[in-house]
Amino acid sequence: KRQDHGLSRDLYQLMEEANLFYQSQLRQHQDKQKVLDYLDFRGLSDDVIKHFGIGFAPDGWDGLLGRYRQNQSAQDKLLTAGMLIENDSGKRYDRFRDRLMFPIRDRRGRVIGFGGRVLGEGTPKYLNSPETPIFHKGNELYGLYELKQLHRDPQHVLIVEGYMDVVALAQFGVDYAVASLGTSTTAEQFQLLVRSAKEVICCYDGDRAGREAAWRALETALPLLKPGDMVRFMFLPQGEDPDTMVRKIGKAAFEELIQQAMQLPEFLFETLSNTHGTDKGALAKQAITLIEKVQDSVLQNLLLESLSHKLGMNSSDDLKKKLGFAVKKPQPLNAKGLQGRGTPLRLAIA
Ligand code: ATP
Ligand code: MN
Ligand code: MN
Ligand code: MN
Repeated sequence: KRQDHGLSRDLYQLMEEANLFYQSQLRQHQDKQKVLDYLDFRGLSDDVIKHFGIGFAPDGWDGLLGRYRQNQSAQDKLLTAGMLIENDSGKRYDRFRDRLMFPIRDRRGRVIGFGGRVLGEGTPKYLNSPETPIFHKGNELYGLYELKQLHRDPQHVLIVEGYMDVVALAQFGVDYAVASLGTSTTAEQFQLLVRSAKEVICCYDGDRAGREAAWRALETALPLLKPGDMVRFMFLPQGEDPDTMVRKIGKAAFEELIQQAMQLPEFLFETLSNTHGTDKGALAKQAITLIEKVQDSVLQNLLLESLSHKLGMNSSDDLKKKLGFAVKKPQPLNAKGLQGRGTPLRLAIA
């Protein structure tokens, strides 16, 4: 245990050193011009580059490794931290080469991983740190530390897909976005977000993958919502992501779109209607499967009520009887409960 603690401390230290190294390469490396050109092409300002600590991993096998030539123990730890790769013959080399580097920080601001983007075309477009003793990507959110630096107690948090989305939004003044570090947002990430802000707005890319991610997010969020938790969904035009969108329309118009984001029940029933068309039986079946997962009885009753209306029933009592639904007693409302900030949820299904 003690030794683990010591190891983690050393890993954090080395990750911070790597971070400083990549940042220095952005200013010093002989190839820096092509990186600056790429940053320019992406429209990133010096301020936002600094705020997120964006750096450059130079091309070559030992840009980072070369700094620890005489230090076997540091090399071993860099391997553990995912910064080096070891091939079959035991030769070690830098994982991140010729990439734009986004440091990923934990809530305490410690660098725990990196996302590296190719400068232009190439595959993989993004290379991310692997899971390590200090980096569990399903538990972390890119940009959350940086957001908390600006907003101690944020009203709302936008959850987006990519590093570039977080950074571009921040540059344009929408400085309350974070990115899940994979294709879907995990339950742990949702839990963390609903605890961090009064309202969570999912804003994935305007493409098929983005819409599927939104639905998966809904399924993930449903079981862990409590009274007063607000989760909404916003959909961008086809082909846009938050980065391209905010550059096109600016902060004010983007925040208009946030205002118009759908409440969770609205998104749920709209998707079900689109999926099942006039087949009310199938709609009801899938709706019930989802509603059963809801732990919070207030939200569950709300969704049942809404479903019964969709099915042309007068109240959810008939529906509950029909289903033999174990109707939970509503929990007492408190200041933080639905009474306080649940109105939009009610409006959404009126
Ligand atoms: P950019 O604007 O730089 O092209 P993006 O964020 O719009 O990046 P998407 O293709 O929309 O890129 O992917 C969203 C996110 O998914 C990325 O930010 C990255 O975290 C992750 N991702 C994308 N491609 C890969 C990949 N090949 N390997 C690992 N992760 C990836
Ligand atoms: Mn995409
Ligand atoms: Mn993009
Ligand atoms: Mn994208």
